[in-house]
Amino acid sequence: MPWCEPCAKYFAPSALTTSGDCPSCGSHALVTGNTNKVTAKNLDLKALAASGGQGAEKIPWHFKLLVVLLVIYLGWRIVSLFL
Ligand SMILES: [Zn+2]
Repeated sequence: MPWCEPCAKYFAPSALTTSGDCPSCGSHALVTGNTNKVTAKNLDLKALAASGGQGAEKIPWHFKLLVVLLVIYLGWRIVSLFL
């Protein structure tokens, strides 16, 4: 929707002049995009993920330790089958 900054008003595309200017002040600086509204086009998922989940993707050290111990244990169980 065209937005006129000097008038601080939205205009229907049909309400504009034939050259696409503001009908009230004649300003040519009409912003057609929704600058302060989150849409599918301007939604930045990476920035959202970085700000929202602060370090959410970081694996805790005790989980890594648990996985290492599990691998060692299962490895030993397999080795012990052939002993
Ligand atoms: Zn205007």
